[in-house]
Amino acid sequence: MLKLTILGSAAAVADAHHENTYMVLQSSQTSLLIDCGGSPMARLDQADIDPETLDGLLVTHHHPDHICGTPVLLLGLWLTGRERPFTIYGSRRTLQVIPKMMQLMEWQVWPDMYPVTYREIPWEEKALLIDHDEYAVYTSPVQHLVPTVGLRIDSKKTGKALTYSSDTRPCEAVVRLARGSDILIHESTGPFPGHSTPVQAGEIAQRAGVKRLVLIHYPVFAEDLDAWRSVAATAFDGLVELAEDLKVLEF
Ligand SMILES: [Zn+2]
Ligand SMILES: [Zn+2]
Repeated sequence: MLKLTILGSAAAVADAHHENTYMVLQSSQTSLLIDCGGSPMARLDQADIDPETLDGLLVTHHHPDHICGTPVLLLGLWLTGRERPFTIYGSRRTLQVIPKMMQLMEWQVWPDMYPVTYREIPWEEKALLIDHDEYAVYTSPVQHLVPTVGLRIDSKKTGKALTYSSDTRPCEAVVRLARGSDILIHESTGPFPGHSTPVQAGEIAQRAGVKRLVLIHYPVFAEDLDAWRSVAATAFDGLVELAEDLKVLEF
């Protein structure tokens, strides 16, 4: 069984109880970070995940709320004695931005730094990005303000699947990627360019035929967050819930 822990669930403005949206996937031996909010070492500790088990970081796009924790993640791994390589997956643009950010922080002078390798995400629909013993990760470009991918994780043991839209306006690529998934984690920022409302997230979940919709990347300062859930439920016949920091999804 795979375990996906939500490490942050907020849209671009976080609060005391919600970090920016990011998550970690665990198999029996290893783990993979998906985006990197502000306090990755603290959040991994709260989730009881050993950072040494991280194989790498998959970055969906290079907006600050999705990559801002990367320098302290890489620093934290170095300070805790990591030796094995760490892989960063991202679009061509993301793989330009992250090394530039790290160079500004002068990581090139950290002694005995472990190897960091880069894997560019193929810019095509349902590209097989990671073929692990226990799961496969597929990515598809979605429709946001900068190059962004959504992703689907298929569990080889259970036959179940989880799809995450990342930041996007409602798009057919997510419907196709999520088709037949047990869980769809869909962003629900609201009526802004490049984003989706909760009812649009519900419509995408309905059309993809998933069983369970988890709304994420929501405005944590909204007065009535339960309305976020209930309005999505008007468009979707399955289970709708709000992501919360440290919530665990198994599949
Ligand atoms: Zn975002
Ligand atoms: Zn974004």
